Amino acid sequence: MSTHPEYDALIVGGRAAGASLAQLLAKQGRRVLVADRDEFPSDTMSTHFMNMIAVGALKRLGVLDDILAAGFRRITRHRAWIDDCCFEGPAGPPGAFSLAPRRIVLDAVLLDHAVKAGARFEQRTRVDSLLREDGQVVGAVLQTTGGERREVRARVLIGADGKSSKVAEWVGAQEYDAVPAMRPGYYAYFHGVEPRPEPTLEFWFGGDQIGFVFPMREGEDCIAFEIQPEDFDEFRSDHAAAFDARVRRLPDMARRMQNAHLEGKVIGVKGIDNYFRKPYGPGWALTGDAGYLKDPITGLGIGDALEQAFMLAEALGAWFDGADWEATMSAFQQKRDQTMKPMYDATLDYVRMRDIGPAEQALLRAVVISPTLMRSVAYAMVAQLPSLLSPAAYGRTAFVSRFLWPVPEAAKT
Ligand SMILES: Cc1cc2nc3c(=O)[nH]c(=O)nc-3n(C[C@H](O)[C@H](O)[C@H](O)COP(=O)(O)OP(=O)(O)OC[C@H]3O[C@@H](n4cnc5c(N)ncnc54)[C@H](O)[C@@H]3O)c2cc1C
Repeated sequence: MSTHPEYDALIVGGRAAGASLAQLLAKQGRRVLVADRDEFPSDTMSTHFMNMIAVGALKRLGVLDDILAAGFRRITRHRAWIDDCCFEGPAGPPGAFSLAPRRIVLDAVLLDHAVKAGARFEQRTRVDSLLREDGQVVGAVLQTTGGERREVRARVLIGADGKSSKVAEWVGAQEYDAVPAMRPGYYAYFHGVEPRPEPTLEFWFGGDQIGFVFPMREGEDCIAFEIQPEDFDEFRSDHAAAFDARVRRLPDMARRMQNAHLEGKVIGVKGIDNYFRKPYGPGWALTGDAGYLKDPITGLGIGDALEQAFMLAEALGAWFDGADWEATMSAFQQKRDQTMKPMYDATLDYVRMRDIGPAEQALLRAVVISPTLMRSVAYAMVAQLPSLLSPAAYGRTAFVSRFLWPVPEAAKT
């Protein structure tokens, strides 16, 4: 390399993936620069849900207290409807909870901790192109919104620049297991929705749509729908009206929405692609959505970005200290894929799910109204899960197991 790099790591993107990685690398004593084209604090497209495992990652990063201090409710129950059948259970073991922290707060807290750990952060700064020498990425050209351009050199450049990653495009990162976007999604923030007695994540599989309520702060909820491509026209002509009509058709929601009002606009996305990408090459690495993307139906993107930060910080730390690049980074890729693939596949299954039809609906109702049958189903699922899933996936089955209501140990005999 002709010029001594001024940073160990240059991270492109300063939200869930970039800010968490920056904190971890700075805590190792590395010289870290994070550049983001956005101004902070700011919101980004998200329905914000974080399950108990993702909340655990916030705790490990030391940021959970600051997020709770901003007033986000501990979501202690999860409630799922399949048409008119309802299942409810705790959000996890005693003491566990999920959260829906607004990104304007979450991302700012993550960045604040990265800076306190010693990382440098430059906002309103776009990474415009990469610097290469002998086929190796050695840095990037940064451009501020004020028009100032400069070259920055680093031992490694990390693309944490989200689902439209330019870094991935520039380095030609190879995609695998890719599945194109399947379901459009819409969401909006509401104030004044009548709450459940305990903060509860609610979702409805009804017909071909899925609706969600994510409790945020007191009196503030995010409501979302995943619909089907054929519904897109109905939403496109007047998405606020289409959205409102669908919310009110959900069981009990017309009543609970009586005093609710919309904050801002209904936000829509035509669909989110699904892929894994090779997350490293000469002088570069990818993390967060830039390296691994999936439909938000399972609400895993933020938590997965945090998990990847831990894995990548460990791998890069070993490499900075002298380990072989290829061996370390291929082990990182393997670990990421093994950990994430089961829920990636489950996410695709949920996205593909269509209306179950009247025969199955009738069967489901018959099961749900019979406590004996329902218990058998619940216990069969609990018994089956460990053999159906790898240990890593089993740890992540909060998504399934939380829908089983708690049954005292004594009642099982
Ligand atoms: C509609 C929707 C709903 C979602 N709901 C949930 C949910 O409920 N729960 C959940 O866990 N996940 C959800 N997700 C997914 C989640 O938002 C992402 O997985 C998560 O934001 C990924 O974090 P990231 O840091 O990788 O990328 P991002 O959050 O996208 O951050 C990337 C950053 O890179 C910056 N950047 C990009 N290019 C450049 C450049 N050239 N130079 C400088 N900066 C650049 C951007 O400004 C941005 O700040 C949802 C996604 C969508 C679209």
